[in-house]
Amino acid sequence: MENTPLQFKQIPAFNDNYLWVIIQNLQAWVVDPGDANPIMSFFEQENIVLKGILITHHHQDHIGGAEQLLEWAKKSNQPPVIAIGPLHSGITFLDRVIEDQDEVELFPQVIARALAVPGHTLSHAAYFLPQTTINPSPRLYCGDTLFATGCGRLFEGSAQDMYQSLQKFAQLPNETLVCCAHEYTLSNIKFALSVEEKNPDLLAWSKQAAELRHNQLPTVPTTIGLEKRVNPFMRCDLPSMIEIAQQASQGSVRSPSEALAVLRKMKDSFK
Ligand SMILES: [Zn+2]
Repeated sequence: MENTPLQFKQIPAFNDNYLWVIIQNLQAWVVDPGDANPIMSFFEQENIVLKGILITHHHQDHIGGAEQLLEWAKKSNQPPVIAIGPLHSGITFLDRVIEDQDEVELFPQVIARALAVPGHTLSHAAYFLPQTTINPSPRLYCGDTLFATGCGRLFEGSAQDMYQSLQKFAQLPNETLVCCAHEYTLSNIKFALSVEEKNPDLLAWSKQAAELRHNQLPTVPTTIGLEKRVNPFMRCDLPSMIEIAQQASQGSVRSPSEALAVLRKMKDSFK
């Protein structure tokens, strides 16, 4: 039973959210259940029981369905469900809080590594699931820190925080699937093209993403390798990107995190 391959499900919710489910032997963990209803329907249809909830940060579209889901699990006589989230999140229903590099055992011998990734919010976790014999592709559940071709808004943290958080992601294997929480890709690509109009990887990705959306398919997950080639916020350490930020701000941009600050401000007002 322990060698049963993991299964994964991506459930759309609200306008543009994705809820992520990790399944083994009809038991599942849910990442950021902003809405409980589509998850409960999926579980009932597939006879899956809830084992635990992983929370990335305190925003309502990430936690809004969690308590309903916990209640529902209790009523249906399931084994106790554990809710896990980042330290200092202020979330009241958590059973366990995690810090950077903490390990979470999702299933026997299936260990996710927590990463502290402040920036979008100060208390923000990501969960990395490495490649194993039963998990062919490493996966990153990154909430609202990294998006396909973009990054989260800086509501609480600084550009320096976000830069360091994205650098943690850059260290992960290139084939890591980036399971972010929103389908923002086309508008992110529009901005990225305004910054690097001649980036050939970005031009190719733009075409591919437009086609996926045209066919009502998700553009997510992407990979860390792709993000490093097309995402301006993952490319802030390149001298060319620092130069672009320097020219755009007409100020003195010397470091990657200063470049990220300029790019993030440009994106905030980009139409
Ligand atoms: Zn958020």
